[in-house]
Amino acid sequence: MDNTILALHQVSKVYYGQDVETHAISNISLNIKAGDYLAITGPSGSGKSTLLSVLGLLEEITSGSYCIQGVETRSLDADTQAELRNLHIGFVFQSFNLLDGLTVFDNVALPLHYREPILTAQEIEQRVIRALTQVEMSHRANHKPSQLSGGQQQRVAIARALAGEPSILLVDEPTGNLDSKNGDAVMALLNSLNEQGVTICMVTHDTRYAGYAKQQIQLLDGVLVSKSKVSHSAHLSEVM
Ligand code: ADP
Ligand code: MG
Repeated sequence: MDNTILALHQVSKVYYGQDVETHAISNISLNIKAGDYLAITGPSGSGKSTLLSVLGLLEEITSGSYCIQGVETRSLDADTQAELRNLHIGFVFQSFNLLDGLTVFDNVALPLHYREPILTAQEIEQRVIRALTQVEMSHRANHKPSQLSGGQQQRVAIARALAGEPSILLVDEPTGNLDSKNGDAVMALLNSLNEQGVTICMVTHDTRYAGYAKQQIQLLDGVLVSKSKVSHSAHLSEVM
């Protein structure tokens, strides 16, 4: 059986401004399979976040095709795209996007209240506790985000994405707002989640952190310029 989760074929995205067209990504073809841990690297402005937003169905593509679990997404209406996104995609933003009025528990639970099929309160609680345990934050369930370090907030943002039980985690610059100690800890967490079977696609401009992933692609001016497999030993030694 084909275990491809996301498949891009010759995908381009153009942003149309008042009098400028920005070709953010051009003719990108890419398959992500179950169990993969892919790092998207490249300098600032090279199209990394655009590519991740396309993968997360947060941006419409201009040309090409994009399939999620074999379903071609381009012809779908907005509601059906939203359903597919809820079902398959866990998005983790660089800025965490946690709500400070809510506890950690409620932040993780919030998206679950808007899902089909509707979950019972007990099912939601189980999922939230399981996700917080996966990121080792269950002991902070009743804290507010402002009482946590940046690294802990990033863990909660990852838990919120995991609680939806997505097919893939899409993570944009997970260490971008963290010091190196917290950054290393978040990268170790992503490695451990991948070892537990979570499929991950991460954007990073930091080549050292890209080495934590199992596969890497590099963008330059919106073009995919290299694809490589990180050797298993490099993968392990980076983690140690
Ligand atoms: P990266 O994440 O690698 O820094 P981006 O995907 O954010 O790159 O940006 C790629 C190009 O697309 C840049 O030239 C950027 O200015 C442009 N861009 C990104 N988002 C938008 C947008 N919403 N509207 C117009 N241009 C955008
Ligand atoms: Mg970016």
